[in-house]
Amino acid sequence: MPYPKFSVPGVPDEEVWQLFNTSNYQYYKDKIALLSQSPPVCPFCVIDPKKNKVRWQNDFWRGWVNTMAPSSGQFAQTIFPLRRHIQYLTEVTDEEMANLLPLVRQAEEDLGLKDGVYNVRFGDPAKNAKSVPHLHFNGLYPTGEQKIEITISKSQVDLEKKLPILEGWEMYRQLELAGHPDIAETLPPQVWNLIKDRMKPPENKIS
Ligand SMILES: [Zn+2]
Repeated sequence: MPYPKFSVPGVPDEEVWQLFNTSNYQYYKDKIALLSQSPPVCPFCVIDPKKNKVRWQNDFWRGWVNTMAPSSGQFAQTIFPLRRHIQYLTEVTDEEMANLLPLVRQAEEDLGLKDGVYNVRFGDPAKNAKSVPHLHFNGLYPTGEQKIEITISKSQVDLEKKLPILEGWEMYRQLELAGHPDIAETLPPQVWNLIKDRMKPPENKIS
C-alpha cells in the first residue's frame, strides 16, 4: 500500500511513513528530530530519558509509561521494547520471552493496574500502523468508562485523510522554526482548525 506523497526537509523519503502513524504534533516533531539524524535514530535503541523514563528493566527488556501517545479513556499505557532492535515477534528468543513477564508483573504492581489489553505490532508498518520499527509490547489499561478503539491497520483512505494533518503540522513547524510569534493566527483557519486538537498528547491519569 503506497503512502501518500509527503516530504519533510532532512527526513529520508524511506522513513516518512513513520510520520503517518504519529497522533499529535509533539510526537510528530520528536519523530522528525530522530529521523533527521544520519543515520536516523531509533528511539527504542537510544533512549531519551527526558521522553521515556525507563522504570523497569532487565538484561533483555526495558519498560516505561508511555507519555508520547497515550489515548483518552485509559489510566495509562506501558511500553516494553526488547533491548535488541528486531522487527518480528518470531525473532524473540525463548530466554527473552521468559524475561518479559517479570517486568510486566512488576509494572502492574507498581502502577496498581491489572486489567487491560496488550498489543504487539510486528513487521511491515503498512499492515499494522506501527510508529516505531523496533519490537515492543504495548500495555493499555482502560478506565472502562468509554469505548476505546485501536487502529490495527490503515486504509488508503485513512492515509489520504492524514495527509492534510501532516501538511498542517509541517506548516506550523516551519513557522515555529522561523520564530513566528503567533502561529495559530497566521495559519489559514481551515489548517488551524484541523490541527488545533492534535497538538499534544492527552494527559495520562497516572504517571
Ligand atoms: Zn531500535
